[in-house]
Amino acid sequence: MNKLQQEMKLQLQSKELFERARINAFKYMDNIEDMRVFPDQKSLDKLEHFDEPLQAKSADPFKVLQSLQHFGSPATTAQTGGRYFGFVDGGAVPVSLAAKWMSDVWDQCGGLYVISPINGKLEMVCEAWLKQVLGLPDSTVAGFVSGTSMANLSALCAARYHLLKKLDWDLNANGMYGAPPIRILAHEQVHASVKKTLAILGFGSQNIEWLPSDDQGRLELDSLPKMDNSCLVLLQAGNANTGAFDNIDWVCDQANAAGAWVHVDGAFGLWAAACKELRHLTKGLDKADSWAVDGHKTLNTPYDSGIVLCKHPDSLITALQANGEYIIYSDRDPMLYGPEMSKRSRAIELWATMKYLGTQGIDDMVMGFHKHALRLASNLEQLGYRVLNDVVFNQVLIDCDDPDKTEAAVAYIQASGKAWLGGTTWKGYPAIRISICSWMTTDEDIDILIDLFADFKKVEA
Ligand SMILES: *Cc1c(COP(=O)(O)O)cnc(C)c1O
Repeated sequence: MNKLQQEMKLQLQSKELFERARINAFKYMDNIEDMRVFPDQKSLDKLEHFDEPLQAKSADPFKVLQSLQHFGSPATTAQTGGRYFGFVDGGAVPVSLAAKWMSDVWDQCGGLYVISPINGKLEMVCEAWLKQVLGLPDSTVAGFVSGTSMANLSALCAARYHLLKKLDWDLNANGMYGAPPIRILAHEQVHASVKKTLAILGFGSQNIEWLPSDDQGRLELDSLPKMDNSCLVLLQAGNANTGAFDNIDWVCDQANAAGAWVHVDGAFGLWAAACKELRHLTKGLDKADSWAVDGHKTLNTPYDSGIVLCKHPDSLITALQANGEYIIYSDRDPMLYGPEMSKRSRAIELWATMKYLGTQGIDDMVMGFHKHALRLASNLEQLGYRVLNDVVFNQVLIDCDDPDKTEAAVAYIQASGKAWLGGTTWKGYPAIRISICSWMTTDEDIDILIDLFADFKKVEA
């Protein structure tokens, strides 16, 4: 053994590094409700600490951790706290974090069953549970990927393969050169990741049949053209600004009759299907062909955790095929259901989260986000803010009566350090989007946010 190997062996034996990591992590947890939700300028400036050329000699491993603790942790956002309302980020259920932490030590490569039987097994269990809670058809299979971006990509690969096959075109053999055209029907409000996927897959933005959306960002149903079996229809369960849901039921009926493929991007919104009182938003969900959803948003697993679900296993698997002489296949190999080969064994924390919460716990958590959103919206309205969306799920979209004030309100709350939310553009004007999607958020957290909006009214008056 060389010197470095000996050193590393000792590190494993003594556990001191891991004790240090544990102490630092616990300190962070204990401080989460008091820390700034977004770092102050001083902490951001100190990130310069990391600007250095890589040295030839190895570093003291305790100093490596110390750098992260001292300069890294103050430059984090408090995403696991209760007052991070930016994007749609979600918190982390404690047991999911603990399970991830524990299984990080296993360092399993999740691509093949023979490399990680436990990950292979838990993917199968999660697949069955997801079908159960989301009410999806029996034939549905799941791929566990890094996020909804990757899930959308996987689903659209399957759709492209499937539609072309029905048009007598073998995509894997012939590629896209001279392939019969696929008609893509998408509305203006599809997520950026869907637009990116369309570009990656070679469809281009000019070839999409862009359809209009209504005041909530839902597909205008009247605009849906006559479909045929070359159509791929892109729907959304949960608009990233308004939280609105497309009319999945109605569109699927038309699409199914025409032999078209329907994909539903439900990164955070698909979880409405797991909640009794909100399930109506996803009516007809089982009639679609593929779905994309995140664990790391509404379900509150740690990053990264996305899931592609597809009703046509053969199309998903063939579209994402991978062959190699050295591959050892088993009955169900995780890498066949997504674009990655080596990958994190992310089904472990997804399983831990679902197992811990149970169907009732998931239902309660999703409903809790919705109730917070309703109360927040009505309080902000009373304060004189305009609520721009029907609060059907966990998103609240507001503005002030003039665009400059809207932008000033976002800046005021971001600078407060007490909460964080983001600005957006809605129907051409600046707006404020508030996303409630962490189990940590309490009534008091919502009150603090309401107070901040009340304070802004006073300072701008
Ligand atoms: C967040 C989001 C995505 C992208 O998901 P990632 O997990 O960030 O890759 C796609 N669609 C919608 C509606 C989203 O909210």
